[in-house]
Parts: sequence; structure tokens; C-alpha cells
Amino acid sequence: MQIAFIGLGNMGAPMAANLAKAGHSVIGFDTAGTTAEGVTNAATVQDAVKDADVVITMLPNGQILRAVADQIVPAMKSGATLVDCSTVDVDSARAVAEQAIAASLLAVDAPVSGGTGGATAGTLTFMAGGSAEAFAVAAPLFDIMGQKAVHCGDSGAGQAAKICNNMILGVTMIATCEAFALADKLGLDRQKMFDVVSTSSGYSWTMNAYCPAPGVGPQSPADNDYKPGFASELMLKDLRLSQQAAESADADTPMGQMAAALYEQFVESENGKGMDFSAMLPRFEKRGRG
Ligand code: NAD
Repeated sequence: MQIAFIGLGNMGAPMAANLAKAGHSVIGFDTAGTTAEGVTNAATVQDAVKDADVVITMLPNGQILRAVADQIVPAMKSGATLVDCSTVDVDSARAVAEQAIAASLLAVDAPVSGGTGGATAGTLTFMAGGSAEAFAVAAPLFDIMGQKAVHCGDSGAGQAAKICNNMILGVTMIATCEAFALADKLGLDRQKMFDVVSTSSGYSWTMNAYCPAPGVGPQSPADNDYKPGFASELMLKDLRLSQQAAESADADTPMGQMAAALYEQFVESENGKGMDFSAMLPRFEKRGRG
């Protein structure tokens, strides 16, 4: 299969390399000129996509995705499939899918979970939105780049799933960090706190798999001076997307709103930028109630 891969950044480069390693012919394009192992770079984005059966995009945000779609949709061959793996707002995902379908293309929004480690190892989880026909074209490629793909529904459903998952993640991380900081002030040993909560009703992925307290639980960014992992500003981006979606769907999400506000404060005025999103724990540690 002829594949074009647009956006060879931290995630896109290893994903494209895995497709090439599996024997596909992959042509890449990135405005920064980055390349990936086994991938031939095209001079222009139109050159990259014109003969492709499948075009995959892995771009920073919805605005850039819309601009790239304006360039590539008219250049793609009829019947080809556009698979967007970026994390973007639901409205952009639906608009780009409509644009592609109107040009006789198939379209899938398929954001991922698993980070750069998962992209390199080929163990990402894909959450996909689009027609059954479009999903069937993309599924064998998801199997190469990942370990699981869930077809969540029509266009935009993949982004909806991603945004809802990460809203839970942001809220849960804050809850876990503030509970550790309270436990400290109550004189409770952190290891004992972990031993109890990780096997009680307060357990969660943030406590059990990504514990924000250094030296407690499995290895996590907390054990590496809170170097990301998953940076606070990326969590802020996803929480903002969840609030944008809640606004446009008229959904009441008070905890998501509060989590977005806290990560905004942390990133923009408390030196949280560039730190893992679990660095909320040292932030709470330093604070009193007022
Ligand atoms: P990145 O910034 O490393 O990569 C984005 C790439 O897109 C860059 O190389 C950039 O030069 C390129 N680009 C920008 N504008 C372009 C254009 N007009 N044409 C072609 N290329 C262009 O970001 P990343 O970490 O690879 O993330 C990509 C997407 O995946 C984001 O939407 C992010 O939210 C999502 N995501 C990231 C992670 C992670 O852990 N990094 C995890 C899950 C999802």
C-alpha cells in the first residue's frame, strides 16, 4: 500500500517508521524538514499525497489540520482514505471529514493514547471515528502502529473519546495529588497511603500506574524529577479541548472546568511548563489553604 505521512514529529516519525518497517511504501512531509527511518521525503505536501492510497496526518492542532486539509484534499486521488491521528477539537475533526467525503475520499479521525514510547514500540491505542468502510481500510495500519483500535462511531467520535478520557485523567491526577498533599500534612507515610489507596476504592490509573509521589508505586516521571512523560501543557491543551467541546455541546463539566483552570495556572504562572502533569503534587505540597 502507498502511504503518505504528514507531520513527522515526536509521534509521527516513529509511527511512519513502523509502517515502513512493516513493508509499506511511505512518503513523508513535514514543514520542519524532519524525516523518519525508511521514509522518503517529498518536496511538497501535494507531491507526498497525490499517489497515496492512505494519507495519515499527525499535526499539532485543529487549526493546522484544517490548513493542511485545504492543501491535500484536492490533491488526493479519488477513493483514497484520509486518517487524522492528531488530537484536535471535535468540530475540526468533523469539518475535515466532511470536506474529504465531499471530495470522494474516505475519512477517519483516529487520535491515539500511549505517548512517544507507544509510538516507537508500536503499542498505541487508536480511538476511531468514521464509516465502517473507512475504518476497515485503516484498521490494518492501526494494527502495525498499535495494539488496540476501537471504532467509536461516526466522524468526530474518536476525538470525543480521546477528549473525555483525558478529562478524566486530568481530574483524577489533581485529585490524587491533592490527596497525597493532605496525607503529608496529616502525617501519613506516602508508602502507606499508596498501599491503602491502590487496593481500595480510591484506586485509579494515576495512583496505581503513574503514581505522582517519587519512590512510591511503579517507576513514573515522579522518579525522574517530573521530566515528561506527558507534559503539563499537553494536558492543558486536552483539557481546553474538553471545555471547548462541553461549551459547544452544552454539557455541564464543572470538574473538567476546574482542572483546566488549575493546569492553566500551573503552566502559565507557576513554572509548570515543561514538567510532567504529575508535578501537580509538588505544587500542592508547597501550598496552604489560603
Ligand atoms: P510534534 O510537535 O512533535 O509534531 C508535530 C509535527 O507537525 C512537527 O514536526 C511539525 O513540524 C509538523 N507540522 C506543523 N505544521 C505542519 C504543516 N503545515 N505541514 C506538515 N507538517 C507540519 O507533536 P507530537 O508530540 O508528535 O504530537 C502530534 C499530535 O499527537 C498532537 O496533536 C498531540 O496532541 C498528539 N499526541 C501527542 C502525544 C505525545 O505524547 N507527544 C500523545 C498522544 C497524542
